[in-house]
Amino acid sequence: MENVIESKNFIEEIINDELERGVVNGVHTRFPPEPNGYLHIGHAKSLCLNFGTAKKYGGVCNLFFDDTNPSKEKTEYVNAIKEDIKWLGFEWFEIHYASDFFEDIYNLAVKLIKDGKAYVCDLSAEEIKNTRGTLTEPGVESPYRNRSIEENLKLFEEMKNGVYKDGEKVLRAKIDMASPNINMRDPVIYRVLHATHHRTGDKWCIYPMYDFAHPLCDSMQGITHSLCTLEFEDHRPLYNWSVENTGVKHKPRQIEFARLNVTNTVMSKRYLKKLVDDGAVEGWDDPRMPTLTGLRNRGVPAEALKNFCEEIGVAKANSEIEVSYLEHFIRDYLNFNAERAMAVTEPIKVTISNYEGEEDVEFDINPNDENAGKRKVKFTKNLYIDGEDFSLNPPPKYFRLKLGGYVRLKNAYIIKCDDVVLGDDGLVKEVICSYIPESRSGSDTSGIKCKGTIQWVSEPYAKEVEVRKYDYLLKDAEYSGQDFSERMNYDSVHTFKGYIEPYLATANDGASFQLLRKGYYKKSTKNGKIVLGEITSLKDGFKK
Ligand code: ATP
Ligand code: MG
Repeated sequence: MENVIESKNFIEEIINDELERGVVNGVHTRFPPEPNGYLHIGHAKSLCLNFGTAKKYGGVCNLFFDDTNPSKEKTEYVNAIKEDIKWLGFEWFEIHYASDFFEDIYNLAVKLIKDGKAYVCDLSAEEIKNTRGTLTEPGVESPYRNRSIEENLKLFEEMKNGVYKDGEKVLRAKIDMASPNINMRDPVIYRVLHATHHRTGDKWCIYPMYDFAHPLCDSMQGITHSLCTLEFEDHRPLYNWSVENTGVKHKPRQIEFARLNVTNTVMSKRYLKKLVDDGAVEGWDDPRMPTLTGLRNRGVPAEALKNFCEEIGVAKANSEIEVSYLEHFIRDYLNFNAERAMAVTEPIKVTISNYEGEEDVEFDINPNDENAGKRKVKFTKNLYIDGEDFSLNPPPKYFRLKLGGYVRLKNAYIIKCDDVVLGDDGLVKEVICSYIPESRSGSDTSGIKCKGTIQWVSEPYAKEVEVRKYDYLLKDAEYSGQDFSERMNYDSVHTFKGYIEPYLATANDGASFQLLRKGYYKKSTKNGKIVLGEITSLKDGFKK
């Protein structure tokens, strides 16, 4: 084939080779979440890979809900997963549920029984586990292994009809109890489970196991490449066995890739659900959560997350990516897309003794966006500056405001600090300054060399704000290896009172801003209060 696409990773190499040899003539992938929780960053990786690969080859990608485990699955999760995928901007071709195929899967299981390739086993889960053997020893054959086909058909039908209790009987594939691959030692392919399914209700009381259902559902959807994470590598022989022995026409291929792990966070729905259930976070969408709904609520742009997933690529070996690498992409995106604005926390009052009246000064809405234009900000005699931008005992090379020192107020004037007023608590309450009239930004003729620029908010126009900063949910790598509950950082939200310019107060909820020298923040309104939540700091902590 001539038009083979240049490959970027081992999966594309496999596909190119197959296209060239005519093994496949297109690409059809699927993203296969189990609706037992919300999607997280790891799923974003899988989404980018499945949708991205299909797109690259002019193919399509299905959304496939792997709902074979009714006790943990809910419609709430199905809906949330769809929302998250749309947020990332992916469009699925078809949507399917394993439960839509329950009848077909059942019929294929019956076919296996008729072909002498499956049997009903009365051993308990415990007994099955104990007779499975080890890596060095073969398993022991079940005493029920040689039941007649007629008996197996009758018992399996009875299983389906609700004659047996949970765990009383299972259907096992008759493969090889001496196989070097333990997954091939007569694996269970159906179990009895009297649970109400979120879609099929009480229609079924037997459910196919993942390893059996998944390959058949892939086949019935016409999937060409079934991409999954490395822990399924040892299950691939069973995947292929299921496809071959049920005689389904279409034969998909399973390819495994490495899971994405990110430092300072947990990446498992089970653990994340525990955080929610224990009240350690406000919900699945808590801005500290690595869930897609959490990231969205935090203000992380979908594009930044996709760029991150794209850049880390696909690997064949598991590894852990620095969370600072993700932040790097968020910052990179927002640097070009977020408006600039001023906000101060732990504010200090500034009175400019030699200034009267007010005037407009100009601000770049976003200096990285030529089309964004400028806006006007009112400059007045009474201002607030950030508590961090003034020091009574400045360290050497302190370029912000200090007694007797000069600083530039962003886009306005240079001021000099003449006096400090302390409160009863000994803390700085107010600073008295004078401004240099010839130092106006854009037409500065003052000749004063001033190294620091700080932000400010005009007092008469200022609006109150609550600023929230976040730490990671999990403590640093030195704690890794410990159980996540021991690594939890329970002090991960810090709130500050402050003031913002009126421009920020009128911005839409959800808009993100770069606050000078503070970081990127998302605006929201909670109970009538304006809140600015940290998306990411300005400092790039990523070391290439
Ligand atoms: P979890 O352990 O978080 O529940 P899972 O693998 O059980 O994850 P599924 O709902 O089965 O979650 O996952 C849907 C798809 O996303 C699967 O193909 C799975 O392999 C993939 N996936 C899940 N977690 C990651 C991850 N950390 N990195 C890459 N892909 C992932
Ligand atoms: Mg799972």
